[in-house]
Amino acid sequence: MRVISYLIAIAVAGIGFIFLVGYQGQIARLIIGVVLLLAAAAIAYLGHLASIPKKTTTTQKIDLSGDVSLEEFRCRSCNAPLSKDQIDVKAGAIFVECDHCGATYQVEEEPKW
Ligand SMILES: [Zn+2]
Repeated sequence: MRVISYLIAIAVAGIGFIFLVGYQGQIARLIIGVVLLLAAAAIAYLGHLASIPKKTTTTQKIDLSGDVSLEEFRCRSCNAPLSKDQIDVKAGAIFVECDHCGATYQVEEEPKW
């Protein structure tokens, strides 16, 4: 994105420069040239602002409001109640590791529609 805005800025500045070079006593060309150079500076500045890395925070939010609620979590194979530390969230999927029977599996939440 930054490279594109710089390229646009250079192109606009180039056109503005042409207007200034071809000024030939025409005040309108001078004004257009100056305006284009200012526009180029503004584009370059905006491109610079856009290039400042934004802090990206990825929060894992798992909606358990479907058929799965944490309190009601029971092992699929031995039906023992599962505590929070036996449930692991990896890459947006819920993994269960049962302490009672040692079963490990992925919980697929029922679609809500
Ligand atoms: Zn179990």
